[in-house]
Amino acid sequence: MRTHTNAMLTTLELQGLRGIGEAAMPPYYGENHQTAGAFLQKAADFLRPHSPQLNRETIAGIMAEVDAIAPGNHAAKASVDIALHHLWAAMERKPLWQLLGVDPAKMPPTSFTLGIDTPEVLREKMKDAEPFSIIKVKLGTDHDRDIIRTVRELTDKPIYVDANQGWTDRDQALDLVGWLAENGVKIIEQPFKKDDLASSQWLSERSQLPVFADESCQRQVDLAGLAHAFHGVNIKLMKCTGLSEGFCMAAMARAMGLKLMVGCMTETSCGIMAAATLAPLCDYADIDGCWLIKNNPFEDPELEDGKVRLTNHFVGWQTK
Ligand code: MG
Repeated sequence: MRTHTNAMLTTLELQGLRGIGEAAMPPYYGENHQTAGAFLQKAADFLRPHSPQLNRETIAGIMAEVDAIAPGNHAAKASVDIALHHLWAAMERKPLWQLLGVDPAKMPPTSFTLGIDTPEVLREKMKDAEPFSIIKVKLGTDHDRDIIRTVRELTDKPIYVDANQGWTDRDQALDLVGWLAENGVKIIEQPFKKDDLASSQWLSERSQLPVFADESCQRQVDLAGLAHAFHGVNIKLMKCTGLSEGFCMAAMARAMGLKLMVGCMTETSCGIMAAATLAPLCDYADIDGCWLIKNNPFEDPELEDGKVRLTNHFVGWQTK
């Protein structure tokens, strides 16, 4: 049931230690192995002469310079940021979550995404969802109620809905949100086209469920325009260039009164465990990417009561 990810791993070496980062690139953001390879070559040329003392501030400084190499390339930049963070953890011989000062006790449960399929296949997929306490369902079709009815025949777990920019009519959307709330749905993600903030604001002002931005919110700079259009934002390392900006975004979004979700693309355990260090700052987590792919070179992260466990390994994950 798992798919193949085209994620690209980045390795940084310093003083005999290694940090591994990852770029997971869904096609709709325009990055691929060629663009990432070209960007990482430039980043390597910049990083090679440096032998920095790594800590949170110096990594943020390096990432500001890496960001300035070229616009875009968010996932490629995230891979450098994640590798720097893992290298820092390896140098300090401490788990990254500890260095970043997050509280593992605040880890929210993560949802497990159920790709829509025939009832027979869905039944099969539900077995993979067993360790998870929340199901995420992608909607935005002309038969959204049928999809939820099918899922509801299989499970009574809470559901997060991702409309993936697929709704167009405001009144129909509001009507659907009311019905979804009655059927155990807890949150709505990206109801309308990413640039249609007016419709999102209209729905957010009336919706009984919290409405989250995903595609409408990529980087920190996007937050300014979103405070009235959504109740919360979905932060993904692959959109926001990594942990350095992700932590800043989380702080700024909180200050703006927004709720927080941490999400993912189809990362391996490397990217997922990096995202997991941000998760305790968030209200919701959707960091299931590595459980959806079949070419994860690392062990799956540990789960405890449907929550990703922040382990005491230096980097959080182990090679298979
Ligand atoms: Mg989404």
